[in-house]
Parts: sequence; structure tokens; C-alpha cells
Amino acid sequence: MIYADNAATTKISPAARDAMYSCMEGSWGNPSSLHTAGQQATEVLQDARQRIAACIGASPEEITFTSGGSEADNQAIRSAAALGARCGKRHILSTAFEHHAVLHTLKRLADEGFDIELLPVGQAGTVTALQVADAIREDTALVTIMYANNEIGSILPISEIGHICRQKGVLFHTDAVQAAGHLPIDVRAQDIDMLSLSAHKFHGPKGTGVLYVRKGIPLRSLIQGGAQERGHRAGTENVPAIAGMAAALEESCAHMVENTVRVLALRDRLIQGLSQIPHSALNGDSLNRLPGNVSFCFEGIEGESLLLLLDDQGICASSGSACTSGSLDPSHVLLAIGRPHEIAHGSLRLTLDQDNTEADVEAILRAVPGIVSRLRNMSPLWKDKTDGTKSFIL
Ligand SMILES: *Cc1c(COP(=O)(O)O)cnc(C)c1O
Repeated sequence: MIYADNAATTKISPAARDAMYSCMEGSWGNPSSLHTAGQQATEVLQDARQRIAACIGASPEEITFTSGGSEADNQAIRSAAALGARCGKRHILSTAFEHHAVLHTLKRLADEGFDIELLPVGQAGTVTALQVADAIREDTALVTIMYANNEIGSILPISEIGHICRQKGVLFHTDAVQAAGHLPIDVRAQDIDMLSLSAHKFHGPKGTGVLYVRKGIPLRSLIQGGAQERGHRAGTENVPAIAGMAAALEESCAHMVENTVRVLALRDRLIQGLSQIPHSALNGDSLNRLPGNVSFCFEGIEGESLLLLLDDQGICASSGSACTSGSLDPSHVLLAIGRPHEIAHGSLRLTLDQDNTEADVEAILRAVPGIVSRLRNMSPLWKDKTDGTKSFIL
């Protein structure tokens, strides 16, 4: 099997698995217990908190463990909104192509009377710091903008946006779920007030993540109960998963440069090969994108059919975001970068990482063109286009 869907999830690394296993064997106590077994678990938590903080330039007290990226996004945005509302600030600035964990939280807040403004991201799928600066108002409670997009891989100018927000005294949250372990993060240097990350996107376990919150910014708990996580998140901590997350993040950060060099070469070979397919287009910018991200639209096909036929040939890919599969709507990300509905339906996302090989890329390049022409030959719409009855878009 060729796995090329690393933006959906990654395979757990041996280091993360070992850390989890030894925690389950040796430190299975409840960290809230005062006895020795509890204290052993507390030590694992403290150690993980300190190591994760070090990976992103934060202090351990600024790390709150969550159930993943979605919860971290929800909590960051809810906390900032509550804080803003207390002083009459109800404007929240974001972008049109955020993850649904952000967009759906913002939609809820809109129903609750917040004024949500989504910046357009253009064809390249990014926003400039100037766009953000121009849109910030007196009553802006929060700017929440992702570090890198999960579908088209574009990387946003987070440091510049952070500086602008800090200058203007506006809270800045970034969903860094696709960036953590893959791009450098330094919350101090980048003026980031709040940041979400998720372990399973960097070879850690599923169901665990982090919300970093700069010291002094009050967090609102989404879950009521015990006083775990200094009252920021009730519920007994998932100690083994947290230990696995720390091991995975440390490992990804330690090997970031060499992994990036390797994966970039694979990505660019794949982009170059897929570009040969007629009436296709790369989504997003060819240079400003995550090292492993390849996202294409092929005119005249359905992305879902393409990915099922690829799966038949042992290739795991995606037609967009794992979170939108199963819905018939085209991806909001592809619509946001200006792809018409018809084209957005014909998308393919291949996300590589250091476990992929040149042989994987060559196998994908052997498989995709044949499947695309097969699907096109079955399509009445494609026939109309080749006849000249309808015109090509790409
Ligand atoms: C995967 C992902 C999330 C959600 O993280 P979970 O841990 O799966 O809840 C949020 N934002 C982005 C950009 C993602 O890629």
C-alpha cells in the first residue's frame, strides 16, 4: 500500500508508540492522585509539557492538553470571543478557507451576535499582513488565521500577521495543525498568542493535541468538572497519548530540515508529473506550499471516483479534506481560491511525508493519468467538451 494522505493523518512513529507503551506499563496512575502511582503519571505529564513547550518556544505553563486540533481551535476562539465580549468587542477576523473546526465555531458565534469577517484568500490561497492590518477594527476581539492550509498546503505569513496583531493589541490565534512538526514554530518570535496543534498530524496518536496560550490570557474551559490542566480542561488527562505526542513532536522537530529536503523533492517530482495531464491545474502556489502537499484539479472527472480507483491500485489519496468527504458539496477551500464548482469536484490531494519513496511517486504517476482518462471517457460532459459543444475551463 502506498500511503499518500498524511494531511488526514500520519502513521504513529516507533518513538511515539514506545513512549505510549512504556507509559501504559509503568505510569498508568491518575495524575491527580497524590500517591506514588499518581505522581509517576504526573511526572510523565510534566516532562511532556516541558518538551512540547520547548519545541514551539513556549513555557510549560502555557501548554494545555486537549483532545486534538478541533478542541484546541474551539477553545481558543471561544475564550477570545468571551474576553472580547466583556469589553464590547464582537468583531472576529479570519479567512474563508480555515478548517471547519474554526469556521463552524465562528458560525456559531455569528448566531450569538458576533460579527465574523472572513478575508478572501485569492487564487494562491493566502492573505497578506496588509489585508489583516486593514481589516482590524477598534472592536476586533480576535484574529484567527491558519498557519498552513490542510487541502492546498499554502503557508500563510504568520509572523507578519502576528506582528500586526501585537502592534494593534488584538489577540492572534493560529491553527497550526498542518504546520507543527513540519514548519518551524516560535510563538515568541512570531507574536502568536494562541496556537492549536494535533499529535496525529506529526506521527503521534489520534485524540490528543495542544492549545498554547500566552501567559496572562485567560482560557475558558469547554468542559466542566475537575481542576485538571489548571482548570482549563476538566477530565483525567490521556497520559499515554500525551507522552506519545511529546515524543513525536520532538522527533519531527529534530529531523525537520532533512525531512523537508527529502519530501520537497518528492512533491516537486509529483507536481511536475501530474502537470503533464491535459486540462489539469495545481491548486495553490507551486512554491509557497507545505513540503508534502500536492493538490490538483482535473477537469471532467469526479474526485471521489478517482480516489476509489486509486485505492483499487493500492494508493491512499484524498479528494480534499478528510473532514468533508462523505458530503456532496465541493470543498470550501477550492471554492475560496476561485475554482468553479465543476472543477472543484475533480480534485485530488496527495500528501507525502518522509516515509514515502521515489518508487511511491513513480507508482502514483503511472496510475493517475490512466484513471483520469478512463473516467473522462465515461463522462458525457467530457464528450461535450471534446466535441466542442461545451468549452474547457482548464
Ligand atoms: C486535522 C486538522 C484539524 C483537526 O484536528 P483533529 O486533531 O483531527 O481534531 C484542525 N485544523 C487543521 C488545519 C487540520 O488539518
